[in-house]
Amino acid sequence: MFDTDGNQFIDYVLSYGPLILGHAQEGVVEAISETAQKGTSFGAPSRLEVELARLVVGTVPGLEMIRFVNSGTEATMSAIRVARAFTGRDKIIKCAGNYHGHADALLARAGSGVATLGLPDSPGVPKGATVDTIVVPYNDLEAVEEAVGRSSDGIAAIILEPVAGNMGVVPPVSGYLEGLRKLTENCGALLIFDEVMTGFRVHPNGAQALYGVQADLVTLGKVIGGGLPVGAYGGRRDIMELVAPSGPVYQAGTLSGNPLAMAAGIATLTALQNEGVWKRAASAASALVEGIGEAAKQVGIPVQLPCVGTMLSCFFSEEPVTDWESASRCDTDRFAKAFHGLLKRGVYLPPSQFEACFLSTAHTDREISQTIDAFDAVFRSL
Ligand code: PLP
Repeated sequence: MFDTDGNQFIDYVLSYGPLILGHAQEGVVEAISETAQKGTSFGAPSRLEVELARLVVGTVPGLEMIRFVNSGTEATMSAIRVARAFTGRDKIIKCAGNYHGHADALLARAGSGVATLGLPDSPGVPKGATVDTIVVPYNDLEAVEEAVGRSSDGIAAIILEPVAGNMGVVPPVSGYLEGLRKLTENCGALLIFDEVMTGFRVHPNGAQALYGVQADLVTLGKVIGGGLPVGAYGGRRDIMELVAPSGPVYQAGTLSGNPLAMAAGIATLTALQNEGVWKRAASAASALVEGIGEAAKQVGIPVQLPCVGTMLSCFFSEEPVTDWESASRCDTDRFAKAFHGLLKRGVYLPPSQFEACFLSTAHTDREISQTIDAFDAVFRSL
């Protein structure tokens, strides 16, 4: 990264973002430039949209139909609308510390920036917008069972990040996702996996493939647009067929399926289809976690280092982090000191204990070993 005078001040970015191939990856830049010559927006579906849809459907299990939108926020908002229409119920369950974008109904005890700023929700959200949102702790199956039992009108859907990334990386405990699958089937609610962050990061085919649990609806974003604005939702045909124009659930967007975003997404997913490419990023993540863990051990700094595929976190905590309660007990002052120490040494972490680090295919052994050295120096200074 460069300052306004053109001086480089950050060497390595382990940051939050959609770029699994790194910044300005040649194939992605070429695809965007070539597509731009032919027109940037048609207000109608294009061949590129169909091509990307085929790629995504061929990669993510259970996507029988898919609809592109412009952001992850739109994807989750629309998935919930269709889940409510399908079930004829209003109530949804979400997890504390999970973030699904900034739609009103989903801003209850959200992760990401809402958690970083310590906000319980957001001013401007009318009370009525969240009366049908039930918040439960992440990784707590009993809490979901109780919420389902308490709700006389039934639950339309449970939406969650299958690997939470918006309170730092918090993997699902063994049996949690399977338990949710069973529970939702028994009570007639839909299971929505919000894979806007995990899609293509925790596994080349997403979290459903990693854990062997199939959701009814899946939301995607970030990676599938190669750095351009995009989102998508999809899943079972009998549910998705409710979306207009094939069904009565209205959802549309002038810029949805924008050709530039589609071209960037196609270039990104095509590059990721080379198995070795994704594996390299995942091994870089494991090597980094191992190195950071060793450096912390040397000086007795307690850290938790969850890592799933290419996503990882460094929690300053003595106890494992399994939900928002345990995440919020981490030493955020120590994180802030480490963040600035690393920044001085040219390594830019996501600027919050409650964001995930992403490794991209552009990070090589050199960046990994220099990042470990920077952590080592910073740990010694804490
Ligand atoms: N869902 C998850 C899991 C996310 O991480 C995010 C964004 O960080 C969103 C939804 C919202 O996506 P967007 O910022 O594209 O609206």
